[in-house]
Amino acid sequence: AKESGGRHFRFFTGEMDQRTTQQLKMESELRKAIINNELSLVYQPQLSLADNTLCGMEVLVRWHHPKRGIIYPGEFIPVAEETGLINDLGLWVMRHTCKQIAKWRKKALKTPRISINLSARQFHQHDLLAQLKELLQAHQLTASDIEFEMTESMLMADAEETARLLNQLAKFGISLAVDDFGTGYSSLAYLQKFPIHRLKIDRRFIQHLPDNGNDSVIVSTIIAMAHNMGMKVVAEGVETGEQQRFLARLKCDEAQGYLFAKPLPTEACADYLKNHQAD
Ligand code: C2E
Ligand code: CA
Ligand code: CA
Ligand code: CA
Repeated sequence: AKESGGRHFRFFTGEMDQRTTQQLKMESELRKAIINNELSLVYQPQLSLADNTLCGMEVLVRWHHPKRGIIYPGEFIPVAEETGLINDLGLWVMRHTCKQIAKWRKKALKTPRISINLSARQFHQHDLLAQLKELLQAHQLTASDIEFEMTESMLMADAEETARLLNQLAKFGISLAVDDFGTGYSSLAYLQKFPIHRLKIDRRFIQHLPDNGNDSVIVSTIIAMAHNMGMKVVAEGVETGEQQRFLARLKCDEAQGYLFAKPLPTEACADYLKNHQAD
């Protein structure tokens, strides 16, 4: 028993070492990636379901690794969060988003509200608002140009502190969206304590619409309750016309997903903006 325990222990540490080495490698590579501009931003349109007009865009980060090619955020954001690099990475995203909006405006391209994903660490970072203010000012933007997306589970952590931080952002004029709604076991009644403008219903509740009766009930309930509380609703991951029509019937406000557009690199996004200017 002792022997097998020992063997088991060795196996376990071996695996741990490997994971740590991989993580350390990614951490140092990611650190360099931020400095060397290996990161880029893509933008995914959000459309009004009532009239198909463009009402927002979500900015998503990509990593162009010199050896591995493109790496998606699902792989490196968790590492960045764990190591604290997320604060530098998040600042990079905010800075380059603001820069890009200003560039488009200089070319007389109207841009809709741009949503930036915030991680938990960033949200609790004491100088987040100061950083944002500085960037907006430097690029002659206003708070209403930007929205922050925070996951439901992030907001659940510490209600009092969350309320304080959200109120600070809302007071400054930043619009706030709850990301991945429906996955974090919070209730809408709980969220009502916070100054939230938009709920984004998680893709997993959208993907089996309209056939799945359970999901249909959940989604229609979320939409109705959110509206009663004065919030707008965005459906994430809309991929079919059937889903679009179903959500429009339920009076869901906005939709985002491959049906309308994939996340677009800067140039493609400029073309998209040209073709979707409000009149
Ligand atoms: P998210 O915020 O839930 O972003 C939506 C994800 O769904 C994106 O994946 C997007 O490409 C994908 N998506 C959009 N429409 C569809 C669709 O119709 N079907 C399917 N199957 N997928 C769709 P992506 O870009 O890989 O990002 C993954 C996650 O990484 C994001 O999830 C977000 O949590 C995080 N992330 C991305 N950029 C940032 C960032 O700048 N900062 C932070 N903190 N997190 C980020
Ligand atoms: Ca998001
Ligand atoms: Ca989401
Ligand atoms: Ca997600």
